[in-house]
Amino acid sequence: MVIVGAGVVGLAIAARLAPRHTVVVLERNARPGLETSSRNSEVIHAGMYYPTGSLKARLCVEGNRRLYEICERHGVPHRRTTKIIVATTGAEQAALGEILSRGAANGVELRMITAAESRSLEPHVPSAGALFSPNTGIVSAHGLMDHFARSARAAGAVIQLRAELVGLVRDGLEWELRVRTAAEEETVTAERVVNAAGLDADTVAGLAGIDLEQAGYRQHYCKGSYFSVSTGRARLVSRLVYPVPGHVSLGVHAVVGLEGRLRFGPDAEYLPDRRLDYAVAESKRAAFGASVRRLVPDIQDDDLAPDISGIRPKLQGPKEGFRDFVIAEESARGLPGLVNLVGMDSPGLTSAPAIAEHVARLIEA
Ligand SMILES: Cc1cc2nc3c(=O)[nH]c(=O)nc-3n(C[C@H](O)[C@H](O)[C@H](O)COP(=O)(O)OP(=O)(O)OC[C@H]3O[C@@H](n4cnc5c(N)ncnc54)[C@H](O)[C@@H]3O)c2cc1C
Repeated sequence: MVIVGAGVVGLAIAARLAPRHTVVVLERNARPGLETSSRNSEVIHAGMYYPTGSLKARLCVEGNRRLYEICERHGVPHRRTTKIIVATTGAEQAALGEILSRGAANGVELRMITAAESRSLEPHVPSAGALFSPNTGIVSAHGLMDHFARSARAAGAVIQLRAELVGLVRDGLEWELRVRTAAEEETVTAERVVNAAGLDADTVAGLAGIDLEQAGYRQHYCKGSYFSVSTGRARLVSRLVYPVPGHVSLGVHAVVGLEGRLRFGPDAEYLPDRRLDYAVAESKRAAFGASVRRLVPDIQDDDLAPDISGIRPKLQGPKEGFRDFVIAEESARGLPGLVNLVGMDSPGLTSAPAIAEHVARLIEA
């Protein structure tokens, strides 16, 4: 079987399937995990935001539990930091009530805390009341991917780097894959192909002949930038602090890194073309400052420095509603043995171990 893409999703699937299948992972970059999987908040989400019954809700809740187990058993750096979602107005308090109910329906442990309790946890964060999530945390994304890559290789998987899939054709009972390396373009065959190509998952599905518009697989690129706090004010926050979420993203939030670094982000900026432009514009500082001060008023624009950015592969266009992960075995389209994973935006990092189980069930059914 060939898995296209060595991000956290492809690697988790490789680790899960390698003990029972022959697995080759193709990765176009020189190292695994250089794209979205290492350009994110590294938050282990609890799963309270997503519509009940959606793949995002189910796989996030299961992924959260599995991820902590993996981290504890295999020494992957992580911390159960906990998180608060703070309301600053009456209307936002009502929104917290909705998140609490959805969280309960999704099986997420959450509780409402008073403004005084919220301030005792985070004295520098103004609050009219908050939700407390005990099982939200942070993980080293590279640590996690290293673990999956090691497990996959130990079970016999091959991770082929600098190898880009450029053609995918069903030929009789097999898939014929055209793979471009630095030296040549070669053709290999496989009974099964798992498309975990992240930002190019739609392109890869298109190579197999799927009409992207008809299938609803066309991805939009939505960039998220971060600013870090480079001064002593980095100690003003000790856990993850989120605002009440917006329409497209969870809103600029405070991320406390494993090494104690404080970052704010990501914002949400749809990119009109599909360029991997990771530059963080200095000109965003004032807008970031304003969002940051909604959470921590003592942080000034001058405390903020441009940090990393990442790009979300979103199925949801700028003015569209919620779209779920697509994880589809494509026999119904006449493409047996092909599993597409499309629109793997947040919470894809948290969900990775549960996504791997889900794909194993599809393949071994
Ligand atoms: C700003 C931001 C913040 C986020 N925060 C969080 C968070 O806090 N918690 C959370 O759970 N999730 C978060 N996410 C989501 C999470 O990062 C992604 O869901 C996850 O990393 C997706 O992993 P992936 O393996 O599908 O994709 P990727 O990491 O993009 O991996 C895909 C791989 O496929 C390779 N590839 C593509 N095409 C080909 C080809 N033709 N041939 C060979 N290789 C190919 C690429 O080079 C890449 O390495 C965030 C995302 C962003 C952008």
